[in-house]
Amino acid sequence: MNRSTWLASVGAVVSALSLPVMGQTVKVTPLGGIDGEFCPQDRALVFEDPNGTRILYDPGRTVAGASDPRLGKIDIILVSHMHGDHVGNAHNKAPNAGSCESPDTSVSALPNTSAVNIAVAKKSKIVTGSEMPPFFAAKLKANGGDPANSMLARFGGSVTVGGVRIATVTAMHSNGLDPDYIGGDLGKAMKEAGIAGDVGLATGYVLRFSNGLVTYLSGDTGITADQELVIRNHYNAKLTVMNIGDGFTTGPVEAAYVINELVKPASVIASHANEVGTVNGKVRAGSKTEAFIKAVKVPVHVPLSGKTMEFDGGGKCTTGC
Ligand SMILES: [Zn+2]
Repeated sequence: MNRSTWLASVGAVVSALSLPVMGQTVKVTPLGGIDGEFCPQDRALVFEDPNGTRILYDPGRTVAGASDPRLGKIDIILVSHMHGDHVGNAHNKAPNAGSCESPDTSVSALPNTSAVNIAVAKKSKIVTGSEMPPFFAAKLKANGGDPANSMLARFGGSVTVGGVRIATVTAMHSNGLDPDYIGGDLGKAMKEAGIAGDVGLATGYVLRFSNGLVTYLSGDTGITADQELVIRNHYNAKLTVMNIGDGFTTGPVEAAYVINELVKPASVIASHANEVGTVNGKVRAGSKTEAFIKAVKVPVHVPLSGKTMEFDGGGKCTTGC
């Protein structure tokens, strides 16, 4: 065997084992309310694996529906839980509609959810945990989609889609299904009684991309012991997307504790500030985003809408931060 044949054989073995390829990056692009800013409603991030698989995390209200040109191909949609600002009960009229402080999210997505509308249009898989998959399967079916595209990844297990391993993890939050998604007499009666539908626990996610990058998406959560026991000790997440909004989830102080003492990733992307985080692309003085950055010991990256950041297998931002 000559040298080039030997190298080709090694290459074939490496690709057959799907070993992480050094130097490849995961691209993360925020689809927020206003280009170049971090705005109150911003949740949606698109992750692109080096192999081309594209994942939309929590479309929320800032993705302007399925026809938003920023989406492109979407292979997988992740929904951490069923609250309207994550699954999308309404959405932007168009990208950049309204202002950062008060976006024009006047387009209702009820009773479908924006996540389902996008999944039907893009033929995406929706991967969720807990008891959410049957809800999404029924919605896909009712809207001309394929119910088999709603896939389950329950706590402790994982599924691999498009070369990305997807696991769900606990989130200490609530997950009531607004009766507006149910509709009809049942929805009306539930609304009047003030009760929500039960679709199980809220979740976070751990993703393992083909370059070896392990990423923790916190979803809405409080501080949990699993952030150390499961997310750090077992999955060894190197990049974290951390919600900092306070009131509904960890605030900047609690989120900084999660990062510094529990998950200990190489870097973190702030998310879910529920206030104007930047002005002209710069972190606003006195903001929760600023407080979080000051309290965290590793690099904090601010998700500016439309600005793509690239991360290597170790969780280090190599471009765009
Ligand atoms: Zn929530």
